[in-house]
Amino acid sequence: MPTDYYELLGVARDADTKAIKAAYRKLALKYHPDRNPGDPDAEETFKSLNEAYAVLSDAEKRANYDRFGTAEPGGMPFGGAGGGGDIFDIFNSVFGGGFAGGGRPQRGRPGEDLEARLEVTLEQARDGATVDVDLERMAACEVCHGERVEPGTDGKETCPTCGGAGQVRSQVQSLLGTMMTTQACPRCQGEGQVVTHPCSACSGRGRTLSRDTVQVTLPVGIDGGYRLRIPGEGSAGVDGGPDGDLYVYIELAPHEHFTRDGDDLRYALQVGPAQAALGVTVEVPTLDGVDTLEIPAGTQPGTEVRLRGKGMPRLRRGGFGDEIVTVQVVIPQHLTPAAREHLEAYADEVGEEVRETHSLLDRLKGVFAGRRSRDGDASD
Ligand SMILES: [Zn+2]
Ligand SMILES: [Zn+2]
Repeated sequence: MPTDYYELLGVARDADTKAIKAAYRKLALKYHPDRNPGDPDAEETFKSLNEAYAVLSDAEKRANYDRFGTAEPGGMPFGGAGGGGDIFDIFNSVFGGGFAGGGRPQRGRPGEDLEARLEVTLEQARDGATVDVDLERMAACEVCHGERVEPGTDGKETCPTCGGAGQVRSQVQSLLGTMMTTQACPRCQGEGQVVTHPCSACSGRGRTLSRDTVQVTLPVGIDGGYRLRIPGEGSAGVDGGPDGDLYVYIELAPHEHFTRDGDDLRYALQVGPAQAALGVTVEVPTLDGVDTLEIPAGTQPGTEVRLRGKGMPRLRRGGFGDEIVTVQVVIPQHLTPAAREHLEAYADEVGEEVRETHSLLDRLKGVFAGRRSRDGDASD
């Protein structure tokens, strides 16, 4: 039976995707079941058009169809009842959601998506840890399992509004003009049944508020600002509707040693002026221990030293960033008298002019000398 897809759509065998789509749009609107109520031939044609478009709009399927006369590489005959997709799926994907009617109403009501914030340590981000996230969500009622009906009762009856069909037909204005369309029954929300004996545990809502813990596995190298989607961990759907998703927003916890800079870690190393001038071997922390670092004589403040591969694992790329050590030279704010003397001698030696100062002891001597002379004056 398979009609030639090109003939069906009325396009040339070398037609481009645009021409195929335009031809499909025109014919699909013409043969849409809502426009041809009670016409089985139109519905058959509509189905064939969807098949043809599904194959010819997909480069791989089209190539197989051109070579073997079927869309599947294994030689499986295409079309028929298989596939499981709704005959309106393709139509809706081409025309978008703005088209009134068409398609079966989805069973039940989907659960809400939820959001959570998660503070992650650098170590967890490095290891890709599994972390518990506590949250409150609407979970399926444990008594009625989301069926909304008191167990042991015949708690549902056929919906009187739609007679159990779950859909009602109505006349609507759309881009096709006035036409009949089907909509989910407003009374039973498409279920075809209404609850007569509601579950007492959830008052017939099918869900109860639940405090739950969800385990979130962090991808190795995750950074603050990322959002993880955990499918199905939002609130439960109602009447067979799908569960919502959980979105986890990642925040990076402050670290005692490091700040993160993309895949690199930054560490500020403090050394004294003598260490910077004379050179020193120091230990610097890394994420997995300590490393020894040579600070050569004459190192300037702000000098950066890279420890290759000691940074964070690169998210979804493999390899590691670096640890960047910045040398900070800390000038002492308080000097012992001996250190002051040595520093003054150093200044003298290199000809570095400094403000004339006296040692604390000299200044104290001066104060006592002044007091003695004033005391002498007063006794006169
Ligand atoms: Zn219940
Ligand atoms: Zn109904």
